[in-house]
Amino acid sequence: MADPETKSNVMEQIVSLCKRCGFVYRASDIYEGLNGFWDYGPLGVLLKNNIRDWWWRNMVECPPIGPDGHPVKIVGLDSSIIQNPKTWIASGHVGGFSDPMVDDRETKHRYRADHLMCGLARVQRKGGAIEELGHFAVLSGDDAVELLVKKADKLARKTGGGEILPPETLTPFTKLTPEQQKLVIGPDVMTPGTLTEPRDFNLMFETYVGALQSEDSKAYLRPETAQGIFLNFKNIVDTTRVKIPFGVAQIGKSFRNEVTPRNFIFRSREFEQMEMEWFCPPDEALKWYEFWKAERMKWWLSMGIKPENLIFREHEAKELAFYSKATVDIEYRYPFTAPEFGELEGIAHRGEYDLTQHAKHSGQKLDYFDQELQLKLKEQGAGDEEIKARSRYVPNVIEPASGLTRAVLVLLCEAYTVDETRASKMFMKFHPKFAPIKCGIFPLVNKDGMPEIAEKLYLDLRTHFTCEYDAKQTIGKRYARMDEIGAPFCITVDGQTKEDGTVTVRERDTMSQQRILLDNVLPYLNEQLSR
Ligand code: ATP
Repeated sequence: MADPETKSNVMEQIVSLCKRCGFVYRASDIYEGLNGFWDYGPLGVLLKNNIRDWWWRNMVECPPIGPDGHPVKIVGLDSSIIQNPKTWIASGHVGGFSDPMVDDRETKHRYRADHLMCGLARVQRKGGAIEELGHFAVLSGDDAVELLVKKADKLARKTGGGEILPPETLTPFTKLTPEQQKLVIGPDVMTPGTLTEPRDFNLMFETYVGALQSEDSKAYLRPETAQGIFLNFKNIVDTTRVKIPFGVAQIGKSFRNEVTPRNFIFRSREFEQMEMEWFCPPDEALKWYEFWKAERMKWWLSMGIKPENLIFREHEAKELAFYSKATVDIEYRYPFTAPEFGELEGIAHRGEYDLTQHAKHSGQKLDYFDQELQLKLKEQGAGDEEIKARSRYVPNVIEPASGLTRAVLVLLCEAYTVDETRASKMFMKFHPKFAPIKCGIFPLVNKDGMPEIAEKLYLDLRTHFTCEYDAKQTIGKRYARMDEIGAPFCITVDGQTKEDGTVTVRERDTMSQQRILLDNVLPYLNEQLSR
């Protein structure tokens, strides 16, 4: 197991780099922030857009080849963040989209009850006597026992000290009886009994539409992008040439009033999702589930993520929603979960649940008439009754749902590489396709005709890639900054450029330098960046 000290260090380094270089800032920073909200700075927004564009390219513009050897069909959508509130009643979010929450009456802190782990700590006093110190609650994580022992030790010292005997097992707060819960010492207090019983807390942000604020004008910020797709299923079938099986893809903001936003941008209250709903005949759903499971893993690997940092986690039967026949998560080994993994994307077989629910609540027909199947059945000589019954159905849905902002975190964690030999002591090893800045262009010194040549090169290259021109500070410092932001190449114009028309190209990962002709810079970068 990784040393917890090192693990939290890596995350601290990444968070500090993000602020220092302009990847991610605390939202409302000058007002001391707002818990669970983040702003993507000049480099962060470039990185995020690169991931977003790669997903859109591979889902909508150039989707994968299907099991029959033909490309699958997926169309795009950009639906409203606020929809008719009936949407969320039909989808089950109004009734059921909640986390159990516990408040501390003393500190007013709020915790997710299923994230609080509790255990009885005992102390062995100097004379050998063993005493119970109390039932402590700490936030789950693989340093939970360590945290618990530290806290118990603090309490023990006040009463004469001794050696702490850690609990053999930790139990989630939600699994304790109400009587046991009353004995627990909360994570930020030293006395038992300050925690409330767990209460369900709906994660949807509420707002009001129009001038009057009443129950009738209440609406919600969407907690997922998926429902906008189901609401438009009929529009898309009626107005475009799609035929089942087909998909609808959407990228956009979602909002969840998470009880305990944490781990930087991993769990925030405003985030972006990339979701696709794949509509297919019910008897083909399992085949497509397997197809999308494999395709989605391939996609994450195409971003340069190391295979050992990604796993599938199949949901057990008891974890599945009642309508789901199968769900698998693609998980990543984040620095704060290592050696374990945390969710990055979920691929769910949702059956006909969503369309059936919306049909019921809206009174609209959301089934599908499969003309091709009708013809096929006729050819096979099926009877009229059978043809009628089988060619109209409610499609099943396979849903690959991932977090765009969580993907930004994954690429930041994956790229962060320690290298003590460099001036920057680290570099961001982004796959060139996702690097926010592709190339730095520098005159070695800011005189002797070098800036003019370098600027001309910059004016040309910036029409092809994101580039930065920098003429200040020593060349070593400029290379160090490019390493920190993960620019894969640097081009330096020096004294020799005027003599033989060559420049130096420095490659980020190897730090190797080579001279190439000025005229060859564009084709060279084109080739390197398209790999
Ligand atoms: P979790 O179990 O982490 O709360 P979830 O299973 O509720 O996530 P889904 O509803 O399946 O998540 O959402 C799909 C994806 O959206 C997740 O895999 C994740 O990448 C992203 N996502 C969900 N909640 C958040 C959040 N609060 N902050 C950032 N990304 C999120």
